[in-house]
Amino acid sequence: MPVRNRFAELHPEITAWRRDIHQNPELLYDTHRTSALVAEKLREFGCDEVVTGIGRTGVVGAIKGKTDTQGRVIGLRADMDALPMQEQTGLDYASQTPGAMHACGHDGHTAMVLGAAKYLAETRNFDGTAVVIFQPAEEGGNGAEAMCRDGLMDRFGIQEVYAMHNVPGLPTGQFAIRSGPLLAAVDEFDIHLDGRGGHAAKPHETVDTTVMLSQLVVALQTIVARNTDPTLQAVLSVTSVETSSTAFNVIPQSARVRGTVRTHSNEMRDLVERRLTEVTQGVVAAMGGTARVTYTRCVPVTINAEAPTQHAEAAAIAVGGSCLEAPMVMGGEDFSFMLQERPGAFIVLGNGDSAGLHHPEYDFNDEIIPIGCSWFAEMVEIRMPAA
Ligand SMILES: [Zn+2]
Ligand SMILES: [Zn+2]
Repeated sequence: MPVRNRFAELHPEITAWRRDIHQNPELLYDTHRTSALVAEKLREFGCDEVVTGIGRTGVVGAIKGKTDTQGRVIGLRADMDALPMQEQTGLDYASQTPGAMHACGHDGHTAMVLGAAKYLAETRNFDGTAVVIFQPAEEGGNGAEAMCRDGLMDRFGIQEVYAMHNVPGLPTGQFAIRSGPLLAAVDEFDIHLDGRGGHAAKPHETVDTTVMLSQLVVALQTIVARNTDPTLQAVLSVTSVETSSTAFNVIPQSARVRGTVRTHSNEMRDLVERRLTEVTQGVVAAMGGTARVTYTRCVPVTINAEAPTQHAEAAAIAVGGSCLEAPMVMGGEDFSFMLQERPGAFIVLGNGDSAGLHHPEYDFNDEIIPIGCSWFAEMVEIRMPAA
C-alpha cells in the first residue's frame, strides 16, 4: 500500500502543526509549549489515554484498536526538542526564539507521529494498542533514558518500539535501514594534566604541561590507528585543548584535553576507553606529570534488532516502494536507550537536497510528511493485524 489517501488529505493540517512547532523551538527538557500542544492534540484525536510528565516533559498517548485479542502493544517514538543555534533560513515560519532552532527536524518527527496518531484514532484498524511516545531532550539530554527510567515500557506494556529520522542528501521520501548497529555510542573524555609551572626561560625547572598535552594529542590518535581492528569502526576526536597559562612567558602548571569517542560495539567501546586511560597515564608519566581521566558514556550504540528491522523494511517498501541498506554512521541517537529495553528499529527517511542536520539553513521537508505518517501507521497495522 503506497501513501494513504487520508494522509494526503491531512497533509496541509499536519504541515501547519510542523511549522507552528518550527516557529516555537524549545531546548532539552524545556519543551513545555510543544508538550502541551502534543497532549492537547492527542486528547482532541480521542486517544484512550494521554499521560504527560513522563521523563519530565515527555508525553505518551495510547490508542486501542478495534479489537485486543492478544494484548499486543507497539510503540512509536518522536523527539520534540530543538538546538541551541541561530536559524538562518529566512523562512516566513522561521524560529521566533533567538538562539534556538529546529535544525534536526524533530519538528517534522513530532508532526508525523501526531499525524499517525490522528489516523490511528480515526481508523483503529488493528488488534492491540498503539502507543505514541513524544520525548524531550534528544539533543544531549538523554530524554529517552529519562522516559525509560520513569517506567515508560512497563507502564504501557510496550513490546516493540520504532522511530524514524530524516536524512538530508538521501532522495526525498527514500527509506533506508540496516540490521545491527546503525548509529554510534557517544562518549566524552576530559583529561586534566598536572605538571610544574614556571618561567618560560627556565624549562629545566618545570614539568611542562604544554609539551605533555602536545604529545598526548598525537599519542591518542594511535589508539584508532594501531589498537583497533581496522575492519571495525571507531573515532577518537580531540576537540578542545587549554592550559592554565595565558602569558607568553609562563609555562603552565596544568592543562586540559577534551574530546569524544564514537564506537559501534561494546567491545570496541571498552577497548578505546581502556587504551585512552593507559596511553594518557603512560605519556604523562614519561614526562614527569600526572593525569586524571574522566570518561563518560553518554549514549549507547543504536542497534536495530533483526526481526523488527525486517518488519520496518517491509512497511517502508509497502509505503515507498523501496528501502535501501543504510550505511553505519558515527553520530548518536538516544533512542538507543529505548532499544536497550525493547526490541525495535530505527529507520531513516530522505529529506532530499536540503542543508545538513544541525546547519543554520536546514529545514525539514514537508513533502515527506504523508510518507512518514504512512510508515508509522503501517508499522502498527502490520505488527498488529486486525483480528
Ligand atoms: Zn540532532
Ligand atoms: Zn535528531
